[in-house]
Amino acid sequence: MKTLQELTRTNIWKLKPYSSARDEYKGAAASVFLDANENPYNLPHNRYPDPLQCDLKKELARIKKVDSEHIFLGNGSDEAIDLVFRAFCEPGEDNVVAIDPTYGMYQVCADVNNVEYRKVLLDEDFQFSADKLLAATDEHTKLIFLCSPNNPTGNDLLRTEIEKVLNHFEGLVVLDEAYNDFSEAPSFLANLKEYPNLVVLQTFSKAWGCAAIRLGMAFASVDIINILNKIKYPYNVNDLTQKQGIQMLHKHDEIERWVKMLKEEREYLEDAFTGLPCVLKVFPSDANFFLARVTDAVKIYNYLVGEGIIVRNRHNISLCCNCLRVTVGTRMENDKLLEVLKRMGPLPSPLRRRGS
Ligand SMILES: *Cc1c(COP(=O)(O)O)cnc(C)c1O
Repeated sequence: MKTLQELTRTNIWKLKPYSSARDEYKGAAASVFLDANENPYNLPHNRYPDPLQCDLKKELARIKKVDSEHIFLGNGSDEAIDLVFRAFCEPGEDNVVAIDPTYGMYQVCADVNNVEYRKVLLDEDFQFSADKLLAATDEHTKLIFLCSPNNPTGNDLLRTEIEKVLNHFEGLVVLDEAYNDFSEAPSFLANLKEYPNLVVLQTFSKAWGCAAIRLGMAFASVDIINILNKIKYPYNVNDLTQKQGIQMLHKHDEIERWVKMLKEEREYLEDAFTGLPCVLKVFPSDANFFLARVTDAVKIYNYLVGEGIIVRNRHNISLCCNCLRVTVGTRMENDKLLEVLKRMGPLPSPLRRRGS
């Protein structure tokens, strides 16, 4: 791996961060706070939140079995994705490499930051080759994006190939584990200390059932975390979200129950899909959604919309021709989807199509 200074944009390396009132005085002992131009009324919402989310990180560190200094928290993991571009990629000069197809935000953030985005196509089984990925890198490649389980394909990437990338790439490897809770594969969090170039992303939006509160996590070396903290907005995670995050961490058992139910529902729905006349192939999934190749994705998508059921049409994505991505819901929602698809047969009848 290159040194972190070599990987970091010069302006970011030299940046002196904004110092907020809450950065300069951290103690809780004082009883009169007249330092931040807050309104003394409207408790508890009148106070700025903890800029480094110490209480939340303490709980999270316990559950995830990592030290607090290895945790960055953001306004969704999408914030962490944007920040790694801004910290490490010089616009118009550096590039990043990612598997294709994968989560769309990596490319959007690359485009916003004017950073070249290089895609390396997955194989038929939606797996990648470390050698092919590494061959797409050059001296200006700062980041490699991997997503496991991958969105929209649903499968875990091969651990041996991920390790190969971590061992041979000179830059940072961003491993997005948004769906790891639904997978049998162990998280790379346990290996954080082995790989100084690893950034693991996780989120409260999926297994934790908290997409609304916008809370994402990045785990990495202390030095990488310090760079992200230096360039984030001072109060990037609001107080309501920090409090709700702590509440959720206390409900750890309930989350495990949800995950178990959703994994059972995934098996149920995948099995039922396999027998439907409109379904050509169901791809195996390690996430809370799966990809299915159908007879005509656009027609079936529109038919389902007409029936009040929304799935994700992935027909225009690489390797996903005529594929729909289906999120696993409750048994009632899943049965409703199955009933509507059974009623349809191999293709929706033209008479039943929306707008006719
Ligand atoms: C849903 C998802 C996320 C979560 O993003 P948040 O901003 O935390 O809601 C991250 N990565 C992938 C691949 C996802 O599918």
